[in-house]
Amino acid sequence: MDLKGKTAIVTGAGRGIGEGIALALAREGANVVVMDRNVEDANGVAAKIVSSGGKAIPFRADVTKKAEVQATVAATVQEFGTVDILVNNAGIEAPPTLLQDLSEEQWDRVLGVNLKGVFLCTQAVVPTMLKQRKGKIVNIGSIASVRMTFFGSVEYTASKHAVVGMTQHLAWELADSRINVNTVCPGGVLTPMMEGGTTPEIRATLTERLVPLGRMCVPDDIAQAVIFLASERSDLITGQVLAVDGGLLTGYGEDLRSVIRKRMDEAKAMKTAHVA
Ligand code: NDP
Repeated sequence: MDLKGKTAIVTGAGRGIGEGIALALAREGANVVVMDRNVEDANGVAAKIVSSGGKAIPFRADVTKKAEVQATVAATVQEFGTVDILVNNAGIEAPPTLLQDLSEEQWDRVLGVNLKGVFLCTQAVVPTMLKQRKGKIVNIGSIASVRMTFFGSVEYTASKHAVVGMTQHLAWELADSRINVNTVCPGGVLTPMMEGGTTPEIRATLTERLVPLGRMCVPDDIAQAVIFLASERSDLITGQVLAVDGGLLTGYGEDLRSVIRKRMDEAKAMKTAHVA
């Protein structure tokens, strides 16, 4: 899938899934803007791309800050002339929290990155895409975009469901200008986010019980779906939700109740350990 000469912005690209997507886009020939709020991580990923012969620039920006997002897009246009592809990957998850313990601050913080961030970045690139009457926007959702999930808590599930709503609405609104908007929903991917929220034991148990294809995803599994949706091969696909999850969404297995209880017990234990 040749993306030679195309220019892509990937948010949260300093590590994890975003890094995998940035590296894969660059391997396909795209110029990549590695955007992250952590400038050292962004520098590192851009340097990896450049040292393998690709084109990339790092950019420090927080997706929740309109001025920083707009500055990223302006710098991209200045450096590469346009924006063809936006990957809204930046996302956060707070420690699992039951509703009664959920603070307004946690709700606002998670929705701020996972939802408002997608709005601000999309709004910032669309004028350029409208001018060229072409563009590809790929959002990174989650299995939590289509079902309740035992990762994270209610605000994470709400934010990721909302990304699908935005995807469908904007696919319709931008269709006349040939701007495609789709969402890729990763299953469990071994990244710093995942390592921070689970133990190796629970990852092994969940994979064994719940993933028909029998392994967790790696960032490149997600990147391959993104590349397809960023390429001309998917020109007639818009408003869609594509899960890359090893079959997880085909069913949660019979023991969902026990998995949830174990998860919540683990959340309480982590909270107690933190306080101690
Ligand atoms: P990581 O936490 O490993 O990486 C996320 C990156 O995004 C970090 O570099 C982080 O920077 C950056 N980031 C966070 N907030 C912002 C912000 N406000 N502005 C700019 N950059 C930001 O996460 P993953 O790679 O695991 O997740 C990437 C996406 O995939 C997220 O949307 C997540 O919800 C989704 N996902 C992940 C799954 C998984 O199993 N890992 C499963 C399903 C979905 P910093 O270091 O400063 O935090």
